[in-house]
Amino acid sequence: MLSVVIPVYNESPLILTLLDRIKESLKEVPGYEIIFVNDGSSDNTLNILLTERELDKRIKIIDLSRNFGHQAAITAGLENSSGDYIAIMDSDLQDPPELLPKMLDILRSKEFDVVNGFREKRNEGVFRRWLTSIFHSLFSRSSGLQQIENTGHFSMITREVLQAVLEIKEKVRYIPGIRAYVGYKQTTISYSRDERFSGDPKMATTALIKLASDALFAFSRLPLKICLWLGITGVVLFFMAGIYVLISKITGWAPLGWSSTLISIYFLGSIQLTFMGILGEYIYRTYKESQNRPLYFIREKFM
Ligand code: UDP
Ligand code: MG
Repeated sequence: MLSVVIPVYNESPLILTLLDRIKESLKEVPGYEIIFVNDGSSDNTLNILLTERELDKRIKIIDLSRNFGHQAAITAGLENSSGDYIAIMDSDLQDPPELLPKMLDILRSKEFDVVNGFREKRNEGVFRRWLTSIFHSLFSRSSGLQQIENTGHFSMITREVLQAVLEIKEKVRYIPGIRAYVGYKQTTISYSRDERFSGDPKMATTALIKLASDALFAFSRLPLKICLWLGITGVVLFFMAGIYVLISKITGWAPLGWSSTLISIYFLGSIQLTFMGILGEYIYRTYKESQNRPLYFIREKFM
């Protein structure tokens, strides 16, 4: 059986189209369930889903107690899925449901355990595309994880892989990173990522930046390395500056003015503040993990 996990947040205008396209795509698939995780929508999303569920019990709904965010919503869906194969997709039709049967065929052949949607083309806004491409190249280089570039959430995994993914209990989660991290036999399937079907992106650019920094902090040492290299550069620079100052002092050759003093104070001050900020990020993350709060609360399940 196949489980399709879809997080939804204020997506009422496109749910019916989404459902039509999924059902059409999965016509030939004998058993499946579509798990919608309602991530605290304030519009009609839940009602539409409930009506659809009346007509088709393969539609399952998990209603979260409030908006917990994309990653928590997907996790809720994954933890409550029962299929042998589990697909993750966004609700906005940027991930074409028509690929699901192909992904299923690949996994059924037993040759692979994970199929990732590989975004060959992106028809999104220029700014978003630019931001995501910077992030992807930074992330794949600094995390050392294979096959992560140009893949996002859209994917299908076997139950075995799901168990591995769910064993990673970190609270600040980046699911594509976790999926790459667990390993197994992974492959990709290409598609072109369209604009979202309707409405504005539910993840604001700031939320995307937060997700990107969560990913970098959780899967790479890049922030710490930047600190270290900047620190070493500073040591070398100031060592040379120190020698210069000493020689000037001894020879009485060039009296140093207040500008050089101020520049070094400013420079050191700002570098130290930045480093403290980066350390603070690590402390915050450690704190979040040690608080060990549940990722989400479920108000009601319709399974
Ligand atoms: N989403 C969610 N909770 C949120 C924000 C988004 O469940 O707080 C869902 C949203 O309904 C969509 C998916 O996550 O199905 C991806 O959101 P969006 O399309 O806004 O993200 P983007 O495509 O910009 O990464
Ligand atoms: Mg989207």
